[in-house]
Amino acid sequence: MNLANIRNFSIVAHIDHGKSTIADRIMLHAGAVTEREFHNQLLDSMDLERERGITIKASAVTMYVNYKGEKYMLNLIDTPGHVDFSYEVSRALTACEGALLVVDSAQGVEAQTVANAYLAINEDLEIIPVLNKIDLPAAMPETVIEELGNILGIGQEECIYVSAKSGKGVDDLIGAIIERLPAPEDHINDKLQAMVFDSHFDEYRGVICYLRVVSGSIKEGQKISFMSCGHSYTVTELGKFTPKMDKRKELGCGEVGYMIANIKSLSDVRVGDTITSLDEPAEEPLPGYEPPMQMVFSDFYPAQSSDYPKMKAAFERLALNDSSFTFFPQNSPALGFGFRCGFLGLLHMEIVQERLERENDIEVIQTSPSVSYEVLSTSGEIFKVDSPSQLPEKSEIEEFREPFVKLEIIMPKDYIGTVMQLAEQRRCVVGKTEYLGSNRVMMQFKAPLAEIVYDFYDILKGATRGYATMDYELLGFEKSDLVKIDILVNKVEVDALSTIVHRDSAETRGRKMITRLRQAIPRQQFEVPLQVAVGGKVIARETIKAYRKDVTSKLYGGDITRKMKVLKKQKEGKKRMKSVASVQIPQEAFKSVLKSG
Ligand code: GDP
Ligand code: MG
Repeated sequence: MNLANIRNFSIVAHIDHGKSTIADRIMLHAGAVTEREFHNQLLDSMDLERERGITIKASAVTMYVNYKGEKYMLNLIDTPGHVDFSYEVSRALTACEGALLVVDSAQGVEAQTVANAYLAINEDLEIIPVLNKIDLPAAMPETVIEELGNILGIGQEECIYVSAKSGKGVDDLIGAIIERLPAPEDHINDKLQAMVFDSHFDEYRGVICYLRVVSGSIKEGQKISFMSCGHSYTVTELGKFTPKMDKRKELGCGEVGYMIANIKSLSDVRVGDTITSLDEPAEEPLPGYEPPMQMVFSDFYPAQSSDYPKMKAAFERLALNDSSFTFFPQNSPALGFGFRCGFLGLLHMEIVQERLERENDIEVIQTSPSVSYEVLSTSGEIFKVDSPSQLPEKSEIEEFREPFVKLEIIMPKDYIGTVMQLAEQRRCVVGKTEYLGSNRVMMQFKAPLAEIVYDFYDILKGATRGYATMDYELLGFEKSDLVKIDILVNKVEVDALSTIVHRDSAETRGRKMITRLRQAIPRQQFEVPLQVAVGGKVIARETIKAYRKDVTSKLYGGDITRKMKVLKKQKEGKKRMKSVASVQIPQEAFKSVLKSG
């Protein structure tokens, strides 16, 4: 197709503002889905994606529309909607020339509206602001326009009014896509450069790469190579999703589609990498490639040690489908054999955890998630610390660093005080505050990732009756006063419970952990001290008093079968204990201590 008739765009929005419904509407308009499929799709989306209000993986759909007597190819590139995947979002956006910025006209501009708009602006995209849900009685388009103007400098005349639900305004939207978004740049005669912006693993066909051809063209049967890793393959199939898989012999400059090339594992393909011709390679890869960066780490142990091989096989399968997930064998004296796992963020971790339990039926003990730290050693080396056990001796640490983020929170102005207080408790430093309109503000903070990654969002939601929204982006690592706290059970350090925290919260955090432990470990036949230590010095202590529990005493002798049942149950319970320093610790105790910060 003529380059001038191609439009590549994404839809970005805060969760639930209507991105998927608008995408479906555009497809319906283009005939890519039928009316029936449109309604089915609305229902279908009640699955995992819907449940969590996110799109886990990006994909692309090609549509054809007639506009003013000419045929146009529209490539709609989907982006993951969550901050954990912001690198993937940025790659998907570079595959586009424009973005629809969708705002729910009853909700207004939210944190991810702003974050996504910035990402699109950074990629130099043309933005079409879309006010969705104008059918709602609570719609307040004037207020939303004011907010868009104040925060993003967007003018009223640019906005398109849409109801994705009824279809109203969708014609105007398609007109705007064609009239306002630029066509791809002409690099038809240059050497092949195609950017991989997503990939999927298909059990039968291997890896399916989504790509945007930036220059030259790619053909079936061609030998290609990936410029960052150097691997080469022969293209076995090319095509587009329309939205069904639709084979093509060639994908030309400016086009978006998929490639299959006998690639066995997702770990062989990197989002952001450049594909070029093996025989006539481009001089340089496209800019912006970054290897995936795991920011959250957690240890996974099988509750039954016999499940270890099953867990290993499950992780291998998961990694095949998810190149951002990493796992390494880990051995803990307390919990046995398990794995140290790395994730892009907390949501990513929850997705993997859920799949592990649901698809593999393995009961898991998981250590509380921690961020990745950095240590500058006295010999001048910088290395990553993903686990308290990797921490070098104190004398070898010149500087201990933790990751900081730029945090943005949008809320009604009445909550400024509440949010300030919460932020202070979490070591956040307040930056600028901007008014969106007369009622709502956006506050910026510099925040330690460790303080917000876990439960901050839930607490923020609770404190603002659900009104606040937030988003963050990584700034980098900075020096911080961090310590490792150790938990001792019966004077023996339980490595799996060690954790890195800021010095100011070491005692509170440690106390919380041993209180939970005391509540979760049954009394033993001897007294068991529980201690918190920092650098070998005990800073808090609790004691489990000695007690011999006679579980059958309550049963008034009589009923022998009932008594047997109780004893049997107790025996089963014992099997799920881990013995640490001759103390029987139930799995549940680990779980309750590791559960949260
Ligand atoms: P996403 O999270 O941005 O993909 O949002 P969805 O497209 O899943 O929409 C979120 C909710 O808003 C769903 O219940 C949709 O049916 C509803 N919705 C989407 N567009 C409209 C609209 O124009 N009007 C109304 N009333 N509801 C809409
Ligand atoms: Mg959606």
